[in-house]
Amino acid sequence: MSVIMIDVLKALSAARQPLTPASLQKAFSEKAALLELLTSPAPPPPPPKWSHQHEKTPVAPTPGEVESLRADLLDKEEAEKRLLRQAAGLDAEIARTRYFYKRAMLTLLALAGDPRNEHLMGEIEELRQLVSAEADVENQFQCLQRLKDRVLKEASPEQRTDAPRLWDQDEQWLQTPVLDIQSPEIKREQPYAILVKNAFLKILNQFELVSEQSDPERYLDLRKRLTECQDFDAVITVGEEIVGLVRSYMGRVVREQDQVASFAREVGKNLLDVEKHLMTYLQSAEDGQQANAEFHQALGGQMEGIRESFVIGQSVNEIKGFVFAKLAVIRNVIDNKAREDDVRYKKACAEIEDLQQNLRSMKKEMGQARERNRSLEREVLLDSLTGIHNRRAYEQHIMEEMQRFRRYQQTFSLILFDVDRFKDLNDRFGHRAGDKCLKEIINRIKLCIRTTDFLSRYGGEEFAIILPGTHRDGACIVAEKVRRAIEMTRFYFQNQAIPVTISLGVTEVKEADPEPETVFARADDAMYRAKREGRNRVCTL
Ligand code: GH3
Ligand code: MG
Ligand code: MG
Repeated sequence: MSVIMIDVLKALSAARQPLTPASLQKAFSEKAALLELLTSPAPPPPPPKWSHQHEKTPVAPTPGEVESLRADLLDKEEAEKRLLRQAAGLDAEIARTRYFYKRAMLTLLALAGDPRNEHLMGEIEELRQLVSAEADVENQFQCLQRLKDRVLKEASPEQRTDAPRLWDQDEQWLQTPVLDIQSPEIKREQPYAILVKNAFLKILNQFELVSEQSDPERYLDLRKRLTECQDFDAVITVGEEIVGLVRSYMGRVVREQDQVASFAREVGKNLLDVEKHLMTYLQSAEDGQQANAEFHQALGGQMEGIRESFVIGQSVNEIKGFVFAKLAVIRNVIDNKAREDDVRYKKACAEIEDLQQNLRSMKKEMGQARERNRSLEREVLLDSLTGIHNRRAYEQHIMEEMQRFRRYQQTFSLILFDVDRFKDLNDRFGHRAGDKCLKEIINRIKLCIRTTDFLSRYGGEEFAIILPGTHRDGACIVAEKVRRAIEMTRFYFQNQAIPVTISLGVTEVKEADPEPETVFARADDAMYRAKREGRNRVCTL
């Protein structure tokens, strides 16, 4: 049996065929006849000669025959012992072959995985479990076939081949042997051990570039030990460690990818927050130039820091820590700025509210002052009985006219009039009748003069009319018109007609007049002349 096994392995090695259940099964099937011979039950021993010859009537053997049978029995017992020893050796050989097959399969399956291919990983895991549990060979073979079909199906057309191979998308390295299997040293080793050793060396070669970042000492140690391996077991032991190293590196890469992804998500979230804060800040920051300048400086510094972190950062964790720290500072700066803006905004709102309150009360006060001013004006410049301007107003107005005359040579005339015998009227009809009469006189005179003429009560029952831009002749006409209007008016008090007349003095301003009083005096003189000449008349000077 062991001879058959060795033959099979030699045949596979010579044919450079991989060690798979299919190839093993095929190789063993070619030796089926021999196997059957070995494993079939032994033919029944020939019946003793005496039993054939003396079936019904046994005859006692001769001493020679007994001796011969004893010798034959001893031979058979010796042969049986030899066969039992051979069977035990065969069992050991089968166990060793199974052990080799199991470890080789587990190692190859560990190498064949592609974490990105979920289906492939499922097939591999299924086969790995079957191999680990030493399941039925037929089951293992079917599972292996499915795995092979999947690999071939998923490979690109130019990569497809019926020959089984290790799973790797970049297989160029597989075509470059690492060890020269023709060297005398290697020739001593088993062909499969060399192939597996080469495969692991190629894996280590691929791993060399990244080993500096992961575990360079372990890499060098594994490489040295693998090179020194002299048998298959040693290769497999070192190989499993290599697989462990690759797996831990892959795990680290996957973890790092996860970290990068979560880091990117965090950075994205933080940047969104920053953007939101900035938009809020831009909307509210309309004042505080100094604070804004400081804020921009701080923000710019932190942004520059983030940019530098990508230049000087050595690893994802370093960059991550640096960027998070900077983002925290930026966020702090923005929060502080927002708080300051909020305080400033609230303060400004309170100030605006105060100002508006002040404005409202000021408006109210202004209204009150304007009203007071109006009543004061009325009090100061208007006559309370007749409602026309009083003497103070007259004096202001004639002064202004005098100035206009001096500056622009715009002339003006003055009419003074006095109610004739008003004392008698008061005495006859009472003071109230006198007041009413004065009011009525004013109403009549208002109808006779222009709105630009200035009518005022100079005192008692004496009145003055300033006529801007009017020469003495024109003023005389107005005076006569006024006199006639009063003369023609019938004043009634308690159904009793009261005759009322007025005497008027008219004058025009002259170049020689030094002051308004001179003009007034001349008009007053003219009025008294009218009194003297009989009243109810107009005199001019
Ligand atoms: P003459 O023709 O010379 O002017 O005679 P007269 O009586 O008008 O002269 P006089 O100046 O002596 O009298 C003025 C009177 O006018 C005296 C005063 O009682 C009266 N008087 C002055 N002011 C008012 C007033 O506001 N109301 C009333 N009812 N009478 C007034
Ligand atoms: Mg008078
Ligand atoms: Mg009078």
